[in-house]
Amino acid sequence: MEIVDSHVHLYPPELNAAPTEWAAARGEAHWAVLCTRTRKDGRRVQEFPSVDELLRAMDAAGVARAVLQGWYWERPETCEWQNGFYEKCVRAHPDRLSACAALHPGAGADAARESVRRAAEAGFVGLGELSPHSQGVMDDAAAREAMDAALALAGELGLSVCMHVTESAGEAGRRNYPGKVETPLGDFVRWARRHPGTRFVLAHWGARLPLDAEWSEPVRNLGNIFYDTAASPLTYGANTSAGIWREMADAAGAERILFGTDYPLVLYPKNNDASAADSMASLIAESRAGGLAEPELAAVLGGNAMRVFAQSR
Ligand SMILES: [Zn+2]
Repeated sequence: MEIVDSHVHLYPPELNAAPTEWAAARGEAHWAVLCTRTRKDGRRVQEFPSVDELLRAMDAAGVARAVLQGWYWERPETCEWQNGFYEKCVRAHPDRLSACAALHPGAGADAARESVRRAAEAGFVGLGELSPHSQGVMDDAAAREAMDAALALAGELGLSVCMHVTESAGEAGRRNYPGKVETPLGDFVRWARRHPGTRFVLAHWGARLPLDAEWSEPVRNLGNIFYDTAASPLTYGANTSAGIWREMADAAGAERILFGTDYPLVLYPKNNDASAADSMASLIAESRAGGLAEPELAAVLGGNAMRVFAQSR
């Protein structure tokens, strides 16, 4: 069984060298709030590994391939910059890495379509991780239209779209974190309905959309929605999160779940020696203990990602 981690973030060396200063200079304040945070014990919420460190983490955890996810940057030029870096990463390690392209729809529909076309030509397998809610798209009619244009073309060109989804703030027992943006579930259902030829991967279990009282029924009829498991222990608890694997497989079907970590996020911060690399191995162990039958596990850990993020070329 080839294991695919379908949700990994990586950054160029100049960002890794000084993340806070980089973000201030580039005007990426929201990213800084989310990614340069430290926990109460002073440790960073995530690491800033090089591509070689990622490959070593994959080797140690037994991961054959990683799908690099771009970030939902506030500035279109930062999207271009990260996409350029990802192109180089994939070109250097085509046997281990695939990538989704970052996209900012603020420059209008034509520019958005052009970005999607360029991404497909450059060998990207998708768009993501997108967060229209974080990128100021929802209150801007032109940007919403540009987003729709990009989503439609992505489907035509065989690019899947990974989107950031968070639990609603009101839900009991779910964690809030600094920089969290509300992502109403109905928005994702509407995008999936409007673009039936586009595959959507809703990150972070899609906030358990198939179990939502309002949306579980409509979602059952949509064949183009998938879910990834990124950052699962941080939202659903490190000790109890095994339950969610079975719960989501029953609600959505195991064929719709893609294993993903959110590396280099530290997923088990209560373990004193926890690192991003350990997190990758630990989440695989958690999935194996999640009550899935062997064929379901094979689909979740790799088969589904190979299908959903098939090389578009
Ligand atoms: Zn995310």
